[in-house]
Amino acid sequence: MGFKVFNLSCTNHHMFEGWFPSAEALDDQTKRGLISCPYCGETQVKKELSAPYVKGSSSVPQTNSSSKESQLQDFQSSANIEQVRALLMKEFRNIINKAEDVGDRFTEEAIKIHHGETEERSIRGQATAEQREQLLDEGIDVFSIPDDLDPKKQH
Ligand SMILES: [Zn+2]
Repeated sequence: MGFKVFNLSCTNHHMFEGWFPSAEALDDQTKRGLISCPYCGETQVKKELSAPYVKGSSSVPQTNSSSKESQLQDFQSSANIEQVRALLMKEFRNIINKAEDVGDRFTEEAIKIHHGETEERSIRGQATAEQREQLLDEGIDVFSIPDDLDPKKQH
């Protein structure tokens, strides 16, 4: 014997579901006061709208809870960004520390490396704005070292 789901409400407007073999069985049990509201215990309950209708509208609180989850994920990923940034800064620092300091020969060396005239390696040094332009014209990527990462300024 199958059961049907019915939406019920008590006199305090609490909504709940009940499973009954038939609408007649539900009516019989409500008349005899056998069904009580799970929220307040009220036994004066009545049948509400059909289950499919109410089930459809019950998806609203589910949407709310999933948006809370995505907010939490946003929070977690922003915490991860901080960790990733810290790792990148560490990696960046390692690269800078390993790079050969060629001082004011930087532009000259960078062009030589770019043309394959000298050993390919990471270098760092000083370049004027004009020299940077020259390097960019050669198609050489140059980036400025932030002050707090410059090994010379860490002392
Ligand atoms: Zn109630």
